Amino acid sequence: MDQVRLYEPGSTHVVGDGFHVRNLFPSNEIDRAVSPFLMLDYAGPTFYPATDQPRGVGEHPHRGFETVTIVYQGRVAHRDSAGNSGVIGPGDVQWMTAASGVVHEERHERDWAKQGGTLQAVQLWVNLPAADKMMAPRYQTLVCEAIPVVPLEGGAGSVRVIAGEFGRAKGPATTVTPMQLLDLRLLAQHRAALTFAAGWNVALFVLSGQVAVNGSEPVTEAQLAVVPSSGVPILLEAQADSMLLVMAGEPIDEPIARYGPFVMNRQDELAQAVNDYRAGKMGHLD
Ligand code: MN
Repeated sequence: MDQVRLYEPGSTHVVGDGFHVRNLFPSNEIDRAVSPFLMLDYAGPTFYPATDQPRGVGEHPHRGFETVTIVYQGRVAHRDSAGNSGVIGPGDVQWMTAASGVVHEERHERDWAKQGGTLQAVQLWVNLPAADKMMAPRYQTLVCEAIPVVPLEGGAGSVRVIAGEFGRAKGPATTVTPMQLLDLRLLAQHRAALTFAAGWNVALFVLSGQVAVNGSEPVTEAQLAVVPSSGVPILLEAQADSMLLVMAGEPIDEPIARYGPFVMNRQDELAQAVNDYRAGKMGHLD
């Protein structure tokens, strides 16, 4: 069986004033082991009291990668300088390809904020290869109903296929490099064997429950298991009803240069990104 490494959140912070997050990477400094994925923030579950001023994060840019937002509880509204906007709620996913650059804001949806409630969401950053970092921005709203659900063998649970293939299903997300993104539910005292392509990196984030991965100690809430796949099935054994986000993908074997909301390959490209943002080349919100 492939070797598993387990991680706790490496940092906590607040994004704007609306997303209290625990970060799994890059704070754990495992870039190579989780490529093509760049960042995993777990927001909540956090209760926010009712307000007329929706919390969130105001206008900010991104370049060189994709942001994927998965909502489990609550409602998040988004709008960007490419003219896209939308609201995602429980089960929905927003897949934004920032690529050459967008400016956007992410907030609690106004009517939801007026009621108050619990927010639980994940934001995942997916890298783009050098050749695609400057492609045109793209925006995909993947509503819950469009995400196929595949039952696991033996009544062990189910998998929602957000991206890539699982069983006979194919997720609705269009991705730039080969990957799978799966929302997996595994029932207590059940097991599942998941097979991924040899050479891919696999990261399993536990939102709730307790799961052994390839015989590991139990992986629990907000912990991450990372496995380099050799094509041998990865064995999950749940000791409690569990909910996992499974990220698997072909690594992008290129240098990474980061500066805040920009992720490129070289320092000079980061300087260019800052200049282009300041010059308004990534646009503005209306
Ligand atoms: Mn953002």
